[in-house]
Amino acid sequence: MTDGGTHTGVESQPLCLRFTKTLRSRSLPTPKEYLCHPSDLAEWLVTAGLGPEAPAVDEELLREARELRESIYRAARSVANGERPAEADRALVNAWSRRGDAYRVLDDAGAGWCFPGASPARSALAVLAGDAVDTLGGVRTGTVKVCAGTGCVAVFLDTSRGRTRRWCSMGTCGNRAKKDAMRTRHER
Ligand SMILES: [Zn+2]
Repeated sequence: MTDGGTHTGVESQPLCLRFTKTLRSRSLPTPKEYLCHPSDLAEWLVTAGLGPEAPAVDEELLREARELRESIYRAARSVANGERPAEADRALVNAWSRRGDAYRVLDDAGAGWCFPGASPARSALAVLAGDAVDTLGGVRTGTVKVCAGTGCVAVFLDTSRGRTRRWCSMGTCGNRAKKDAMRTRHER
């Protein structure tokens, strides 16, 4: 995935919300799944800056990761709608947050993560859960929103000054909306 790692700063969205974008086109009958194989998850974690090398992931952990991802997504949508996240989603996020065996390090590229435990991938998911607590719990500056892009419904953190951002990404949904608006004006 060309999603940009934490070190590159290409995408400044919180990790937990970037994680929810591994399932795209959520409002369509067949959403696009980017975490199909255990290796997809391992690759995503590395790209996200959660580990310097490919961590071991099996089918069971992949299933658990998708389950955590969907809880984060549902909880984020609730927060975006001004509602309290469902108890079950909060419980799953909290359970994962507790499983962490990770610490921050200053490495050659800046700030990184170290996972000393037996399962770095599991610890990386715990980091994502902790990030979800911060992001959805209001610790970060910004407003959690649902993308206004056609068929998108991705969740993102709006940190724009007037909180006027409407799209998860200007490169994809924002661009498409602009083109559509131009076409409409043209046809009139
Ligand atoms: Zn979008």
